Amino acid sequence: MTQTKLDVINPRTGKADYQITPVRREQIEQFAKQMRVAQRNWLSQGLSARVRAILSLADSLEKNKASVISAMEIDTGRRMLAEAEVMGVIGNLRAWAGRAPQLMPKEEWVQGQAKPNFKHQTDWVPYALVGVISPWNFPITLSFIDAIPAMLAGGCALIKPSEVTPRFADALTPVIAEAGMENVLRFIQGGGETGSALIDHVDCVCFTGSVATGRKVAMKAAENLIPANLELGGKDPLIITEDADIDAAATLALRSSVLATGQACQSIERVYVPHTIYSDFIEKLTEKAKAVRLNYPDISQGEIGPFIFNKQADIVAAQIKDALSKGATRLSGGHILDHGGGRWLEPTVLANGTHDMDVMREETFGPVIPVMAYDTIEEAINLANDTEFGLSGGVFAANIDAAHVIGKHIDAGAISLMDAALTGQYFEAGKQSFKNSGMGPSRMGANGFLRFFRQKAYIANTIAPLTLADFSEG
Ligand code: NAD
Repeated sequence: MTQTKLDVINPRTGKADYQITPVRREQIEQFAKQMRVAQRNWLSQGLSARVRAILSLADSLEKNKASVISAMEIDTGRRMLAEAEVMGVIGNLRAWAGRAPQLMPKEEWVQGQAKPNFKHQTDWVPYALVGVISPWNFPITLSFIDAIPAMLAGGCALIKPSEVTPRFADALTPVIAEAGMENVLRFIQGGGETGSALIDHVDCVCFTGSVATGRKVAMKAAENLIPANLELGGKDPLIITEDADIDAAATLALRSSVLATGQACQSIERVYVPHTIYSDFIEKLTEKAKAVRLNYPDISQGEIGPFIFNKQADIVAAQIKDALSKGATRLSGGHILDHGGGRWLEPTVLANGTHDMDVMREETFGPVIPVMAYDTIEEAINLANDTEFGLSGGVFAANIDAAHVIGKHIDAGAISLMDAALTGQYFEAGKQSFKNSGMGPSRMGANGFLRFFRQKAYIANTIAPLTLADFSEG
């Protein structure tokens, strides 16, 4: 039986110029079986050997980076970030290879404290097969972010990238083979059905994507009684205070909202500014927003790429329309531009935002900067928390200490101080997703590694075991 292929759209041309063949359920089952066999050797060879293998994967990726970057460039319609992502993965492979041996808990006997006749030792047993399901916005970064520590822990990784951006994964096949890791690290192509089938064959699933799909993944994982690590959407607020540098605040609001065309989970999606500096801020922001260029027609120029998933443009357009109908003022951008078959949006500053607008409450995932004025800092904090999401947020005040005080009241898992969206630049701080933004231990910091183990206890009694008579009623 021939399998139906899936067409893949090029975001710069709107044309279907690539195809993938979704992996069938039986194939996933077979891959899982083979990988479980390979995992025994992967684990038994020890952490130092796994560190060497991960370092050789980094070397192989560095050597062959041109082919992966050019596939990523077509997947995402952007050049600078395609290269930055690949270089970032190389750096992440090397960083985890350095950190894992320091984080690996020691397996030694510990004397009982309450009952000193007992002692225990703990084995850290990795999940043998970890499934990763990734989205289209940062395709290679989010495919490797969980897989690297999972493999160093001693597990194998079976990764399903988004069907919207699959080219880079095919380009990685020879890279993985050159590093000799094809038995422990494998990409499988396909859409939602393939992702769903993957969950039936792994011991732990790491999912990055939307809240709606995250719920399905969590339910499937629950049926299989496996842990689901979910990293979902966000609606990150940026609070600017009265004594902040207005020009620097406008520069920050622009970068953190429109970088990567706003297609980043940690993008700033709404900005709160005190009435007292509102018009100055809006004026500076609008001036800066108007100076931003599309990377069209020349991919090597400009700052804004096309929408990677062209239907996202419709969601963004609907939010802008809804905001305008409810009293927002458009000061720049605002119109989806069809260039050469791709879809672009210039940075769109929307003044007079209010919380009855979808653009202030629902994830936008586009280069839109809705700004709302506030009177008191308590009001700004309440507005920042008036959302189903709790991924991250930012505070720009007079200094770090003042920003820190405000950040403590924001109900989200990571707060950038005197900056914004820093979880996209700095991976060492443990952070969890609050509210509907996710579930499970941190993917960053020490837990990013330790979450891939289960603890197995050996409890030894150093004296004669109790007898049944010791538990007798009398
Ligand atoms: P999506 O939920 O549509 O798809 C994500 C992945 O899930 C894809 O690989 C898709 O094929 C797969 N999938 C679809 N249905 C499935 C099912 N029933 N079972 C298993 N897998 C299934 O998300 P997207 O549109 O690709 O990505 C954008 C979303 O990702 C945004 O909401 C964004 O905020 C979120 N995101 C979150 C983070 C984070 O770290 N929190 C990072 C990046 C993106």
